[in-house]
Amino acid sequence: MKLSFGDEVEAFRQEFLAWLAENRPSAEEMAAEPAISSAHVPGWAGRWARRLFDAGWLVPGWPTERGGRNAGPVETLVYLEELTKAGVPRTTNPQGLGIVAPSILDYGSEEQIRDYAMPILRGEKSACLGMSEPGAGSDLASLSTRAVLDGDRIVIDGQKVWTSGANDADFCFLFCRTNPEAPKHKGISVVLVDMATPGITVRPLAEIAKPEHPDLNEVFLSEVVVPRENLVGKLNDGWAMANGSLAHERGMVWLSFVVTLEEDIAAVLAEAPAALERLAPAERAVVADGLVASAIDSAAARCLGYRGFAKLVRGGSAPEQALMKAYTSEAKRRLARRAAELGTDHTVDIGSTAASDPTWIERYFVSFGGTISAGSSEIQRNIIAEKVLGLPR
Ligand SMILES: Cc1cc2nc3c(=O)[nH]c(=O)nc-3n(C[C@H](O)[C@H](O)[C@H](O)COP(=O)(O)OP(=O)(O)OC[C@H]3O[C@@H](n4cnc5c(N)ncnc54)[C@H](O)[C@@H]3O)c2cc1C
Repeated sequence: MKLSFGDEVEAFRQEFLAWLAENRPSAEEMAAEPAISSAHVPGWAGRWARRLFDAGWLVPGWPTERGGRNAGPVETLVYLEELTKAGVPRTTNPQGLGIVAPSILDYGSEEQIRDYAMPILRGEKSACLGMSEPGAGSDLASLSTRAVLDGDRIVIDGQKVWTSGANDADFCFLFCRTNPEAPKHKGISVVLVDMATPGITVRPLAEIAKPEHPDLNEVFLSEVVVPRENLVGKLNDGWAMANGSLAHERGMVWLSFVVTLEEDIAAVLAEAPAALERLAPAERAVVADGLVASAIDSAAARCLGYRGFAKLVRGGSAPEQALMKAYTSEAKRRLARRAAELGTDHTVDIGSTAASDPTWIERYFVSFGGTISAGSSEIQRNIIAEKVLGLPR
């Protein structure tokens, strides 16, 4: 199968590549000041966001005043692919750019757009996403963090967990229960909470790889008072936003997973001949088999992704899209394990403080997060079974 794009799309690609070559942050600049959490915006990242925004390359599909250039979905696909291949992060605050800003643009007031969404787009503020709680992850609607309206203020009490980047974020897009009497999906609202507000305690959770740079956090809220105008959208209308937010997240996930999967398998295959030689013959056959399976995973993910995308662009429904998240995140996990088994890790320094690239075994451990965040693989399989295959619950 040979996939190709039309001349106009290729011209768009060349225009972006030329701009990227002139404007991208250098590898040295990024390495000198790495982003240490998903809401940490080092100096270069803020300047990079601003350059992307000003040139209309931040979110090409959006209007110019919001950092875009009214590009179509195919152009956006090409843009994301080239950016991932170039090894430049579009943002160091993915929840902010990918979920929080679009949700505020969809549901927020003019003031919230001005004070919270636009500063994210310009790289001036970062945000975290406060959904999950100890008793509410997959079943988000069970969340119990309470927000009580009291005149012109809102008082919040509760706890969030797994809040990526809460230790560095300027504000949180916080899901709270505002009507405990209503059915659980109908009593939820979203409030914008500045992380410096008194009553907030952030406790980072050390992770197995790079424990000195935690990204996941517990967030405790005790009588946190925010102005009533920080309520996003209508009171008790948060469930629609939860679905909208996750759709923003899932919509963008598959392409970068596919591109990095392809890059990873290419890197492993380059080292494979020499590494396989070092293995005992019986082991060699098993490991080689696994690498071939990973190469097939990667090609299949690309085909599935394009196939689903093409259907969506033509206005149809695309069951393939429902498969992409679970398939690519699990394929990455399988590949990391196989690469570790191949023995191409030159060091095995779990939890090292060195600013080196992670080893395969570290990547294997980290890969489990990808199969849990934004909807675990089990939940994805439920969705495929019920919504795509029409199986009974
Ligand atoms: C790297 C990472 C980043 C994250 N970032 C954020 C963030 O920024 N903000 C935020 O709010 N949350 C974040 N999360 C949390 C994430 O959304 C939750 O971990 C996820 O929704 C699962 O919830 P849980 O951990 O409570 O597990 P649970 O929902 O308790 O699930 C436990 C296990 O049971 C399975 N399970 C649950 N329900 C079903 C079912 N109906 N059928 C079959 N199996 C089921 C799950 O698949 C899982 O294996 C992050 C998580 C990770 C790993």
